[in-house]
Amino acid sequence: MFRIGHGYDVHRLSEGRKLILGGVEIPHTVGLLGHSDADVLVHAIMDSMLGALALGDIGHFFPDTDEKYKGADSMKLLGEVCHICREQGYKIGNIDATVIAQAPKLAPYVMQMRENIAAVCGCEVSQIGVKATTEEKLGFTGEKLGISAHAVALMTENI
Ligand code: ZN
Repeated sequence: MFRIGHGYDVHRLSEGRKLILGGVEIPHTVGLLGHSDADVLVHAIMDSMLGALALGDIGHFFPDTDEKYKGADSMKLLGEVCHICREQGYKIGNIDATVIAQAPKLAPYVMQMRENIAAVCGCEVSQIGVKATTEEKLGFTGEKLGISAHAVALMTENI
């Protein structure tokens, strides 16, 4: 038995914020704005996992109105989502995610992101796919106003 889910997230780029993607702090002139650390990649991944099990989204589990999650480390939240999925009897089959950012170049950081996510989820790096692309200077990502991320998760029954 397996189930598939999709996740999508966007955060605005802002001065005076850190840029954290896949748990990697990336040197850049601006960072992502959000209640938590605004790790848009990890947010999309968590939504894809929860979506696969029809459990809703991360806003339901970690509301941004809750002071507890102010500045939260999204990798810790990912660990909680993995726990929730295990309780439902599911584990990750594989995840495929795409980060859409005009800048900076993300390729040098992709392997570290995959390793971070796999470590928290207790799976192999080969089960976690991360890709980075631009939108050819078009739209809000192209104009460097924000960064978006898509993710698809295949969750398999934990027999
Ligand atoms: Zn988010």
